[in-house]
Amino acid sequence: MRIMISADMEGATGVTWTADVEVGTEQWQRFRKMFTGDVNACVEGLFAGGATDVLVNEAHSSQRNILLEDLDPRARMLTGRHKPLSMMQGIDSGVDGVVFLGYHAAAGVEGVLSHTYLPNQITGVFLDGVRASEGRLNAALAAEHGVPVLLVTGDDLTCEDAGEYAPDARSVAVKECVSRYAAICTPPAVTAAAITEQAHLGMARAGRFAGSASGHRIEVEFDAAHLAAAAAVVPTVDQLEVRRVGFDAASMTDAMKAFKVVTAIASGAVEGSYG
Ligand SMILES: [Zn+2]
Repeated sequence: MRIMISADMEGATGVTWTADVEVGTEQWQRFRKMFTGDVNACVEGLFAGGATDVLVNEAHSSQRNILLEDLDPRARMLTGRHKPLSMMQGIDSGVDGVVFLGYHAAAGVEGVLSHTYLPNQITGVFLDGVRASEGRLNAALAAEHGVPVLLVTGDDLTCEDAGEYAPDARSVAVKECVSRYAAICTPPAVTAAAITEQAHLGMARAGRFAGSASGHRIEVEFDAAHLAAAAAVVPTVDQLEVRRVGFDAASMTDAMKAFKVVTAIASGAVEGSYG
């Protein structure tokens, strides 16, 4: 049983603020340890539940956050940027289940450090007409490859969101959202025990099913007109409104690759304090 953990940092234990997840800050150094602790707790539960191989795919920012020297020696870690499937690199390698660890709520809704890919410039992503978090997008990609989502961790609103896009997955709320920058946090010793337990239980659903590719539509709303105009330069991407673009793709894999291009071009067009 080969399992993949897609590990993001905003939904890790204790994280509530930009500096907690911003590469190079003192706070980030502190929270890297707690993030690694969440990952290790998950690895522990997955092996207890029958996993024979666990690949951790770093999914946050520089994708160089987890402390390899502290990682459970049974796991392997994919670290670093520039991966075709980004947060989900490895989902097409025949894995039997995926965990979304440290995930967060979607752009444009309440949730600790809520966003979808870009921190501020995207105000909404819509997959086939439904507002989509990174979790919802990635679950659709996992389904295309026949991979069940076993467990989702993050704040309580992330878990609520997961209940809609992956109703059979287990979840662990490591904190309770009070605002985008405030949460009632549970200490790592407690969240680790919960993550281990739910990862163990989640393994009951591990096992591939027959995935199939189908067409999907993604629309992206930005906080400024020039970002939509920049993204609409990509062939197949149409500017639908002043701040909104959309495109169709033959598969979720293609949709996510196109979305990656749209976010890269838009973020390259962001200017100083006016965004
Ligand atoms: Zn994220």
